[in-house]
Amino acid sequence: MSHLGMPSGRTRSARLGVGAIGYAVLLTVAACTSSPVATPSAPLTGTGGVSTGPVASKTGAAAASPAPTNPAPTNPTPTNPTQTSPAGARTVSITVGGDVLLHEGVVNQARADAKTQPAGASNGLNFRPMFAEVRSTIAKADVAICNLETPLAPAGGPYTGYPTFSVPQDVVPALKDTGFDACTTASNHTVDKGFAGLSHTLDVLDANGLKHAGSNRSLQERNTPAMMDVRGVKVALLAYGYGLNGLPMPAGKPWAVNLIDIPTMLADAKAARAAGAQIVAVAIHGGDEYVSAPNAQQRSAAKALAESGDVDLIYGHHVHVLQPIDKIGDVWVAYGMGNFVHKQHSIPKLKATQAESLATFTFTEGSDGRFRATAAEARPIAMAETTERLRLVDLPTLLADKAVTGARRTAYQALYDRSVTALLALGANAKGLTIVKP
Ligand SMILES: [Zn+2]
Repeated sequence: MSHLGMPSGRTRSARLGVGAIGYAVLLTVAACTSSPVATPSAPLTGTGGVSTGPVASKTGAAAASPAPTNPAPTNPTPTNPTQTSPAGARTVSITVGGDVLLHEGVVNQARADAKTQPAGASNGLNFRPMFAEVRSTIAKADVAICNLETPLAPAGGPYTGYPTFSVPQDVVPALKDTGFDACTTASNHTVDKGFAGLSHTLDVLDANGLKHAGSNRSLQERNTPAMMDVRGVKVALLAYGYGLNGLPMPAGKPWAVNLIDIPTMLADAKAARAAGAQIVAVAIHGGDEYVSAPNAQQRSAAKALAESGDVDLIYGHHVHVLQPIDKIGDVWVAYGMGNFVHKQHSIPKLKATQAESLATFTFTEGSDGRFRATAAEARPIAMAETTERLRLVDLPTLLADKAVTGARRTAYQALYDRSVTALLALGANAKGLTIVKP
């Protein structure tokens, strides 16, 4: 959903500053974690998910703009989607992407871009230009969700990198301006800076009007599903991580991070329905890093959620490479969306992280009032080649440009092909997934 205005939270965020100290610890492009997949902690009793605060109203450009990714629904789409008609069919589109991983090289690019494009910059950083090429896809979704992999530092720093991240909060207003509506925050890095880092991260998201799911400042927040309102349709977002890189859950706060536990997830989805959600999306931060096939935990969680009848969309991140999209019954499962913004691909052995995707799932209201997935579309994107400025590249747009020739075309065509191969590895094209072509 599009948000061009200055985020209301920037002034507040700036007041949180402790001065520009710079990088005391270099952010590296190292892996997200070096620890093995952790065993989920004991499940929390109780239900619910996530963020508090008023239900966001989804109005504006996204509601008014045609959505080219929408399918021809079974029922005719009303000309005015803000009005419910018994004969009409409301649709809701949800776009998801991969990890926001602010390695040092990403922050350096934001610093350089702040000098040449100062509009919107804060603390000497502007992340917007890096996201600009994919903004139109993200902004036109009714709901666009990113994954904020790491905790945010106070305004101006100090920042730290792997293994315990604390990254510039200036990325948040840029994500908002790019069209994201919510971020998931349950990852193996959620407590890298303890409960204080977790809490500050959610404060910054709140201040910038971004919903969040996956980590919690209180038990009440944990038990209140993150809910978004799309022209009167309530969409719930739940998120879970596989573990905390061996760090302990904050003392006395077993609810601080949502961890993968199938009975708990099923109970949360049911509770979200009871709270009025008409569409329930579940994000899973898990899998084996740099492995393109989903692991047993991912598969078992997806199967249980898809068969529950309470979940409409399942998607994941953490492994940094694209994993396949599949459909279990009527429920789409995007096992791993790879990264969103990062610089891991500058390490030759991590070249596979360069190929990315956005995925958009459209839900249409049936005559029984239930929303069901009626379209799924993946759009291959990538980080720019390391010989170019660090940018997200919209591959269908770039490859449609006849002026892109030679080695450059060959390189980006290879990234496009890599994305398509990964996304379709389980045959999702035969189940209705479409891939955006140049
Ligand atoms: Zn991760």
